[in-house]
Amino acid sequence: MTTIDTTYKTARGRAFNFSAGPAVLPEPVIEQAQKDLMDVFGSGMGVCELSHRGAQFDRILEEAEADLRAVGKIPGNYRVLFLQGGATLQTAMIPMSFLPEGKTADYFDTGKWASEAIKEAKKIGGVNIAGSTKDTDYDRLPDFASANYTDGAAYRFFVSNNTIFGTQFADLPKSDAPIVCDMSSDIFCRPIEWAKYDFVYASLQKNLGPSGQALVVIKDDFLATAPDDTLPKMLDYKVQAAKESRYNTPNTFAIYLLGQVVKWVQTEFGSLEAVEAYNKEKAAVLYDYLDAQSFYVAHVKDPAHRSLMNITFRCPKPEQDKAFIEQAEKCGLTTIGGHRSIGGMRASIYNAMPIEGLRALVEFMQRFADEHA
Ligand code: PMP
Repeated sequence: MTTIDTTYKTARGRAFNFSAGPAVLPEPVIEQAQKDLMDVFGSGMGVCELSHRGAQFDRILEEAEADLRAVGKIPGNYRVLFLQGGATLQTAMIPMSFLPEGKTADYFDTGKWASEAIKEAKKIGGVNIAGSTKDTDYDRLPDFASANYTDGAAYRFFVSNNTIFGTQFADLPKSDAPIVCDMSSDIFCRPIEWAKYDFVYASLQKNLGPSGQALVVIKDDFLATAPDDTLPKMLDYKVQAAKESRYNTPNTFAIYLLGQVVKWVQTEFGSLEAVEAYNKEKAAVLYDYLDAQSFYVAHVKDPAHRSLMNITFRCPKPEQDKAFIEQAEKCGLTTIGGHRSIGGMRASIYNAMPIEGLRALVEFMQRFADEHA
């Protein structure tokens, strides 16, 4: 039993939501969306009621892309697409387009999302596991410098941030093949050196908006290597690019909300450098605490492999984890249970999580440890 009776709240009186995704959104974005659901741009129509080919939605789509390019510094020779099916559909579409018969793609197995992508790619073509940390329960990252690369690989695939285990790469695989990256859980948490990537995708529901949708950024030269007119149209990047993400009726609300989140990043931070500085400050609140105490055990020990977005830890005994999660929920620190594959706790602290949430969590953790040590 524990006696912690504090209720922690955000500036607007809501819970601090540590969900891995769908995750916390910026509160000003939610407020704006409430207004725009009723009437957007003074049109007399709500944002979910607009034709996807009308002038108001044209503006929403154009602004979303322009703002993404501005704050993300996405160069002109990359296409920006908004595609349905979340990040998961990308794991099938990528090999369907870019893994031709007779070729091999290099994949790094760094957790569930990477291994799901590997399974999908194997259905389509040759896959080489260039590195894996499965044998240590993905508590670290493989070394890109000494990886088992394929000469002439179709592409090299990696997941920049491993949402479930809490690891995040600071570097990229060897660059003599196209680089394909799943940035679902860390896109826009720090600046991106686009020139090093050929294909980036991310589900929106962590740093960019609601679920069900992926942001895809493809280099023109790489897109040009996709096949012509052999794939179902919905799965064909060239069709999606030619139709500017509107081959069919897109998820207009997801694109709208993404646009609002990106505007918030611009006004709140101004640059991804500033976002990264804040994220480092936030993550340090929890990592510094974890490293200075002896009750909780951090899943990822090496600071160089630790994620800025998902921080994983556990209590000494599994039954204490259960008590921790239940008690935290009651105190307004919600959805902090770890993924079922590793248990324990996971604090997902995406861009929209304020530093106050980390301070509240650490205060709670100390009180819980005092009672259970
Ligand atoms: N990749 C990563 C890194 C993820 O964290 C997730 C979802 N948590 C996915 C892919 C799958 O995303 P979706 O459910 O949008 O398909």
